[in-house]
Amino acid sequence: MKRIKYLLLLLLPILIFACTTNKEVDLIVYNAKIYTVDSAFRQAEAFAVKNGVFIDIGSTEKIKRKYDAKASIDALGKPIFPGFYDAHAHFFMFADLLAQVDLNGSASMEEVITRLKDYQQANPNKLWIVGGGWDQNLWTNKSFPSKDSLDKYFPNTAVFLSRVDYHAALVNSKAIELAKLDSAQSIEGGVIGKDSLGDITGILIDNAISLVSRYIPQPVERERLLSLRKAQDSLLSVGLTSIVDAGLSFEELEQLKMFYQQDSLKIRDYAMIIGNPDNIDRAINNGFYESDHLTIQSIKLMADGALGSRGACLLEHYHDAPSRGFLLHTPEQFDRVIKKLASSSFQANTHAIGDSANLIILDTYGKYLKNSQKRRWRIEHAQIIDPSDMSKFAKFHIIPSVQPTHATSDMYWAEERLGPERMKGAYAYKDLLEQYGKLALGSDFPVEHFNPLYGFHAAVARVDQSGFPQQGFQMENAITREQALRGMTSWAAFSCFQEKKRGSIELGKDADFIILEDDIMTVPTEQLRKVKTLRTVIAGETVFQR
Ligand SMILES: [Zn+2]
Repeated sequence: MKRIKYLLLLLLPILIFACTTNKEVDLIVYNAKIYTVDSAFRQAEAFAVKNGVFIDIGSTEKIKRKYDAKASIDALGKPIFPGFYDAHAHFFMFADLLAQVDLNGSASMEEVITRLKDYQQANPNKLWIVGGGWDQNLWTNKSFPSKDSLDKYFPNTAVFLSRVDYHAALVNSKAIELAKLDSAQSIEGGVIGKDSLGDITGILIDNAISLVSRYIPQPVERERLLSLRKAQDSLLSVGLTSIVDAGLSFEELEQLKMFYQQDSLKIRDYAMIIGNPDNIDRAINNGFYESDHLTIQSIKLMADGALGSRGACLLEHYHDAPSRGFLLHTPEQFDRVIKKLASSSFQANTHAIGDSANLIILDTYGKYLKNSQKRRWRIEHAQIIDPSDMSKFAKFHIIPSVQPTHATSDMYWAEERLGPERMKGAYAYKDLLEQYGKLALGSDFPVEHFNPLYGFHAAVARVDQSGFPQQGFQMENAITREQALRGMTSWAAFSCFQEKKRGSIELGKDADFIILEDDIMTVPTEQLRKVKTLRTVIAGETVFQR
């Protein structure tokens, strides 16, 4: 008995110490309006972070009383959200574009030429001038430009200019010469533009693009990293903490692995392998890759092209042209590739724009997927769906991965391409949401702007930046703010098998969060695009602060 008393006396100071000393954590955040985006869409005021994860969530009073923090943030009543997750984007393309000529928003071919000349003046020794972002739909003359407009000013420098959707390119005669392209050539799943005399016009569509692009010198590693970091700064400044890189080559993936191993990049990347009938075995054999920041476990396939360049594969001909577009590979090739993927453990994510492309991919997915609910296969864009195919998203458990700004960018001319009847199944985000129960939302940057709030605005208001059209474009397919927020956080994470560790502010999840200056759940819609990110935090570490 004496011994026990003695032991108690010895332990007493330790017990008292344990009761009065707060638990040490790395960070507490308090006085916030926190949208946790958990399943009940609960709000909170404060949380504590240790070792990069949320370890407690609750009231300001509780969190401040319970923890001793190495750092603390008084949010001053500002709203906090889980870090935004872009479910479909192109990090490498965006980075490369920063080192090239940005042609986005050019109002005419003359403006394109002016931007190219300015670039050449600043970079006089480049053998190739590479640019991207032109869109003839924004010009008075809406027909494709030709190489003649470039040859006049650039007779000795090769010029390669991607269209805004990256499904077409304009090249000049010098580039055609270096690529040894001749008018007798043709390619499956692509078009080499030719005039009535059979001469090459300089327009290349889909699979024809690489006939020239493969001759463009690739940026060396150091240049690549510099542009990726520059791109990353832009992404972090708008609250993005995770992105899906929708299709990288093996070489690019190796670079990415190295950059992350060196700790040179902060943003989390779910990188898809760009797959085709020729490399699918290699992709599958390489297996999965997983680190804190980089995940590789999915294959991106391309079924067809884009609507703007009439490369989307339609069931009936275009409303404004006597063609139906085309598939990038034959249905037999897709069948073979998808069959292989279904027996592997990879996730398949297929770009499908036209109603015919969507039908073929949905049916082929359905044909081979066993246990389809667990596989979480996706269709990227799911842009034009025949009404009779809509229910296949539910039936085969296919996640629609859509980009709401595509609706508000294409709305000016999409009906010219499709006619009124097919428009009903186009950009039908609410219909798709009702089928699967979730939507993965993305921006497709650099095809669209990288700011996720532009997509949020487009999804809920279905108007462009100027508020056009006043009544909203196909408002029956608008989604609610809560749905849109889930689409760019928890549902995006779900579409990448990461809902257990990302996409919401919940115990044990990665402490990826953002502080915004205004509450996007309550501000008037016309203010949504202007809301600024004040702070972006990944794994408890501030990576951007305004
Ligand atoms: Zn894309």
